[in-house]
Amino acid sequence: MAFTEPTRYCLWCKDPLRGRSDKKFCDTSCRNAYHNQQDHNTAHLIKTINYVLRKNRNILAELFEMADEQTTFPAAVLLYKGFQFQYHTEVQHTNSPAPFFICYDFGYQAVKDEMVRIVPISKDLLCSWHSGNGTGRRSGI
Ligand SMILES: [Zn+2]
Repeated sequence: MAFTEPTRYCLWCKDPLRGRSDKKFCDTSCRNAYHNQQDHNTAHLIKTINYVLRKNRNILAELFEMADEQTTFPAAVLLYKGFQFQYHTEVQHTNSPAPFFICYDFGYQAVKDEMVRIVPISKDLLCSWHSGNGTGRRSGI
């Protein structure tokens, strides 16, 4: 019984491929079209995530500015404003039990009763974290 190679298909146009076994595309135009699409998808992904991060940062800034002394808000208020908790620029594990999430120049931390504490992050504080010994354990917050 003759060995039949499984049919492979062009990653772009899905036509069956002939020739070299490592071939992925019919020709240069299929390869270029495929890579252009990949670049487009990547650019779109980056743009979308940047938008969410900026929006999160602006929600934190807006709430912090309208706060008097109390800078703790119900998580539901952030959600209502469109905050997406899974997007942040970094995480700091401080001496407190809950991690501290950063969105550029604002940080937030879950506190009791579904509340979120918002803290502006100074450039000095960010620098002190970034120049630390890399353990991620910091004091101060
Ligand atoms: Zn093709």
